[in-house]
Amino acid sequence: MIKITLPDGSVKEFASGSTPMDVARSISEGLARNVISAAFNGTTIETETELTTDGALVLFTWNDKEGKKAFWHSTSHVMAQVLEEKFPGIKLTLGPAIDNGFYYDVDFGDKKITDADFKAIEDRVLEISREKHEFKMRPVSKAEALEVYKNNEYKTELISNLEDGTITFCDHANFFDLCRGGHIPNTGIIKAMKIMSVAGAYWRGDEKNKQLTRVYGISFPKQKDLTDYLELLEEAKRRDHRKLGKELELFAFSQKVGQGLPLWLPKGAALRDRLEQFLKKAQKKAGYEQVVTPHIGQKELYVTSGHYAKYGADSFQPIHTPAEGEEFLLKPMNCPHHCEIYNNKPWSYKDLPKRYAEFGTVYRYEQSGELHGLTRVRGFTQDDAHIFCTPDQLDSEFKKVIDLVLYVFGSLGFENFTAQVSVRDLDNPDKYIGSVENWEKAEQAIINAASDKGLNYVIESGEAAFYGPKLDFMVKDALGRQWQLGTIQVDYNLPERFELTYKGSDNELHRPVMIHRAPFGSMERFIAILLEHTAGNFPLWLMPEQAIILSLSEKYENYAKKVLELLENHEIRALIDNRNETIGKKIREAEVQKMPFMLIVGEEEEKNGTISVRRHGQEGKGNITITIEEFAKIVNEEVAKTLKTFEV
Ligand SMILES: [Zn+2]
Ligand SMILES: [Zn+2]
Repeated sequence: MIKITLPDGSVKEFASGSTPMDVARSISEGLARNVISAAFNGTTIETETELTTDGALVLFTWNDKEGKKAFWHSTSHVMAQVLEEKFPGIKLTLGPAIDNGFYYDVDFGDKKITDADFKAIEDRVLEISREKHEFKMRPVSKAEALEVYKNNEYKTELISNLEDGTITFCDHANFFDLCRGGHIPNTGIIKAMKIMSVAGAYWRGDEKNKQLTRVYGISFPKQKDLTDYLELLEEAKRRDHRKLGKELELFAFSQKVGQGLPLWLPKGAALRDRLEQFLKKAQKKAGYEQVVTPHIGQKELYVTSGHYAKYGADSFQPIHTPAEGEEFLLKPMNCPHHCEIYNNKPWSYKDLPKRYAEFGTVYRYEQSGELHGLTRVRGFTQDDAHIFCTPDQLDSEFKKVIDLVLYVFGSLGFENFTAQVSVRDLDNPDKYIGSVENWEKAEQAIINAASDKGLNYVIESGEAAFYGPKLDFMVKDALGRQWQLGTIQVDYNLPERFELTYKGSDNELHRPVMIHRAPFGSMERFIAILLEHTAGNFPLWLMPEQAIILSLSEKYENYAKKVLELLENHEIRALIDNRNETIGKKIREAEVQKMPFMLIVGEEEEKNGTISVRRHGQEGKGNITITIEEFAKIVNEEVAKTLKTFEV
């Protein structure tokens, strides 16, 4: 008998040679029907792998990330089979699952795959799938594997790097492929499949190697899942921040200025400024002090901080001056500058914590192929702050930072988020700088703070940076996509490198702990995510303009001006569209601009001192005619609903 430990901690006995599917069946028939993959002692296995030792077993269904991975990887086998059928003589290389689907890299030789081929390939994949072929692993010797693939230099290279005795093929139908495993029980559950695109990809990602064709696909256990997925992709396209940013005139790029260097247009700059003011106000309450540091620093600064070793060769190169040997770097991080601010005078434990905040612009060279709208740029502004505190203050400082991050998310309409606590790998203690005692204290402080604040968090061992543990927030946007946002990071390294000190109650000098934190991450990336999350309909408090006054004709210009003045008295941001255009055209344009309220003024309104109010995106609902005071009340109430005051 063997002892199998399940994720809930329960231990069950099974006959040696039992399979994950047997274990599933012993729990329930329903589970057995849904199990599509399994992991034993942390290694992915087949659902029919015979278990012969004690160990921990996890069963996966389609709803698990691991389940999807097995599903998609298995589909890549079927697609590879069909590609070989349709394009005889091609050379298969690798076909892994990815975040959304799978790909297979293929050397098509003198053949070519085009969009016109997709439909027939998809149909054939589903035809084969319906035949319910089982995936079966088969061990082969290295010599045999090399013989089988003697005409495929890619597989030969892969096999050469494997050890004899560890090599397996996966069989299904009349097809086999070199594979280390992780498949669904049989092809029968693949009910929908689509080839998404083809692209060029270098063998092993190295541009010195031959360019292959990467065929991207995705598959689902239900046709409806595929339909939903394609709709989601369409919606994501409509919400693409690059498209919306252009339509709403928020930002632009200029080849003359340079790739990856966004230009903020007046409306975008106003939006940024509003976000900055919002955070500054909360930070002031939370005891932060604003600082300002230059965009460049002497090379030695970054040699001291270690950033030169990390970014030096692969990023912007030093700026030379007329002075012999003098070199400056564009700053890749604000931290070194803030360390020097701390070093400006001696501190006592009574002065701590010091919290220095700066919207600091940093520059990092990204490959041009990696650049993407505002999410991957070469110059960006972090909502950065560094807290210098005693080890005993970590606990309360962490809680305070979490409060601030949650306040930020709440005010911007992100309700769906999770957190990850990254801690040491206890098996590799040499990897980390700082004393074991401090690490324990810091990790415990983070975990305490996370559970104290009721966060939905997971702990990931081995994910900490060498210089300290951290807490990351992931938010889910309106389309269910995960984004990594705010980070809170403990650092024992920089205080050491910059020889930061404070005088303790024992009159001795001690090292402070440093916390890096940025709730938005970067202004650029955050605004991109916010644009896609809200489709440009930002919370009302953040909108550059909250209302537009549309006059029915030039005759009402004076009344429109009067309305604007009254709105300004109520601190409502508005503007007038006084052009000699039809009201229909003015409304359509205001809708495209996502103007939250359209206030129509004409003869009736002027006579009664009212406005006719139309809400964005609610055509057909009819306008309401109200006074300016009534309108101001509606706006202010809606603002107060999302934008609460930050309480410390
Ligand atoms: Zn496989
Ligand atoms: Zn930092």
